[in-house]
Amino acid sequence: MKGAGLLKRSVLTGGKIIEKKERFTMSMFCFQCEETAKGSGCTVSGVCGKKADTSNLQDKLTGELISLARAIDGDTIPTDFTYKVIIDGLFTTATNVSFNDKAILWQIEVTKEEKAQISSSPENDAYDMEKLWMDSEDIRSLKSLILFGLRGMAAYAHHAYILGQMDESINRFFCKGLCAVGATKSAEELLALIMELGSVNLKCMELLDKANTGTYGTPVPTKVSCNIEPGPFIVISGHDLHDLKLLLEQTEGKGINVYTHSEMLSAHSYPELKKHAHLKGNFGTAWQNQQHEFKNIPAPILFTSNCMMPVKPDYDDRIFTTSVVSYPEMVHIGDNKDFTPVINKALELGGYQELHKMTGINGGDTLMTGFAQGTVLSVADKVIDAVKGGAIKHFFLVGGCDGAKPDRNYYTEFVKQTPKDTIILTLACGKYRFNDLDLGEIGGLPRIMDMGQCNDAYSAIKVAIALSEAFNCSVNELPLTLVLSWYEQKAVSILLTLLSLGIKDIYIGPSLPAFIAPNILNALVDKFNLTPISTPEADLKKILG
Ligand code: SF4
Repeated sequence: MKGAGLLKRSVLTGGKIIEKKERFTMSMFCFQCEETAKGSGCTVSGVCGKKADTSNLQDKLTGELISLARAIDGDTIPTDFTYKVIIDGLFTTATNVSFNDKAILWQIEVTKEEKAQISSSPENDAYDMEKLWMDSEDIRSLKSLILFGLRGMAAYAHHAYILGQMDESINRFFCKGLCAVGATKSAEELLALIMELGSVNLKCMELLDKANTGTYGTPVPTKVSCNIEPGPFIVISGHDLHDLKLLLEQTEGKGINVYTHSEMLSAHSYPELKKHAHLKGNFGTAWQNQQHEFKNIPAPILFTSNCMMPVKPDYDDRIFTTSVVSYPEMVHIGDNKDFTPVINKALELGGYQELHKMTGINGGDTLMTGFAQGTVLSVADKVIDAVKGGAIKHFFLVGGCDGAKPDRNYYTEFVKQTPKDTIILTLACGKYRFNDLDLGEIGGLPRIMDMGQCNDAYSAIKVAIALSEAFNCSVNELPLTLVLSWYEQKAVSILLTLLSLGIKDIYIGPSLPAFIAPNILNALVDKFNLTPISTPEADLKKILG
C-alpha cells in the first residue's frame, strides 16, 4: 500500500487519554500491535521487523481470505480443509508469525485455489484492504477490532484442530467476521459483531482447553528450573504442545534435553508431557528478550508459533521453524514433523560443558506453573474459606502479553506492591515480569498462581465464575481486579471475550491500541469502565481504597 493520510490516535499519558493527529506517507500500513510506530501505525516498515513487501502480501492474503469467506458464506458446505485454509491464513498474518514472502505467496495461492473450487463468481474477487485502511475512522476502528480479534482466535482454533478439535459454529463465525470486514456495515452492526466475536472466542478457548487437557491431562502445579544442564539440548518456543510432544518422542533416549521458552512454559504442568524426564526446564524469559538470550547459544531453537523476532547473525544457523511460522533462509520443518535436522543440530552443537545458570528477570532461578482451573477449583473450598475468614482480601488477575517497552515494569512493580493478603492469578508471557518472585503463601496456596498460556484465560474465567457462584454475586462484585497487558491480536480476542461477559473495570496497558478510535474508546470506557493503567501506587490505592 502506498500513499499518504492523516491518522488520529488516542495516547495514554499519566493515566489520561489524549487525542493526537499525525500525517504520514506510507509504503505499507499496519497498526495491529502495541509496538506500532509512534503509537499510530507502521507505514515504512514494521517495528517488529516485518518489511513493507511482507506486510502488503499479508494484506493481499487477508483480501483473498475475505473472498474465500464470501464464497462459502451461504449454503456451501465447506470441508475441514477449507476452514484450515482460513484459520491458518488468519494466524499467519498475526504479529511475529511469518516474515517469509514465499510462504505467504504460497498461502495466497492455496486460498485462491480453494475459492475456485467453491465459486467462480466475480463478486468473489479479492477484497482490497486499502478500502479498510482508508475507511472512516470509526468504521476502520470497529472493523480492525473484528479482523484482529479473528486473527487472535485463529491461533487458538489452529492449536485445537491440530489436536483433532474443530467446531462448525466457530468456523462459520470466521467466515461471518471476514465477510463483515469486507462489507458495508453500520457502527451498530459492527459493535454487535464485536461482542459476538468475544463470545465465540470463549467457545474457541474452551475447545482448546478440552483439546489440551483431553490429550495431555489436567495441569498440576510444577516447579520449573531456569538452569540448563550440561550436554546437548533443544529450546522449543511458541504455544504448540503437539509439536513439543512429538519432539520429546523423537529425542527420547538420544541424550538430548528439551527446554521450553516463553509461552511454552506451562507444558511442564501437563502429565503427558512432564512424564518425559528429558523435558528439563525453561530457557530464558519472555519472547522480546530472545535476540540477546539466544546469542551464541550452543543449541538449536524450534519456533512452533508466534512470537518470533528477526533473527540475528550470531544464532541464525540454529533457528528452525514449523507450522505457520516462517522466516527467510531458516530451515522449515514440514507437515511430516520430522525433527531430525533439529536433533542433528543439537548433537553437533553439544550444549554447555557445565551447568549454565540462568534466572528470571528478578533473579529467581525457579518458576511455578500449572494452576489452571482444574487445580484451582479442586481447592475451591480452601480458597472460599480463606476469603470468608479474611486471609484473602482481594484477587488480581495480572496477565497478558509481554513486550519490550520499559513502561511494562509497571506490572513487576504492581505485583511487588500488592498486599500480603492478596492473590495474583496470572497467565500468558506477561508473567515473566514477576514469575520468578517468591511472594510467599496464604494457607498453603502460593500468592502467585500461573494459570498457563494466554488461551488459559479460559481457566481464569471459569475460576471467576465459580467464585461468583460460591459468593452468590456477579463477577463484577467479586473482590477481583483484572490488570491486563496487551501486545498482539490474541490479547484483543481475549479482551473482547471479557467485555462480552460484561466484565467491567478492567485496567489495561501499557498503551492503548492505535486502532481504537477516540469515539470507540469513549464508548468502551462508558459501557465497561475500561481503565488505562497509571502508576502501581495510584492504581492499587484506587482498587483497594
Ligand atoms: Fe507494526 Fe506491529 Fe504491524 Fe509489526 S505487527 S508492522 S510492529 S503494527
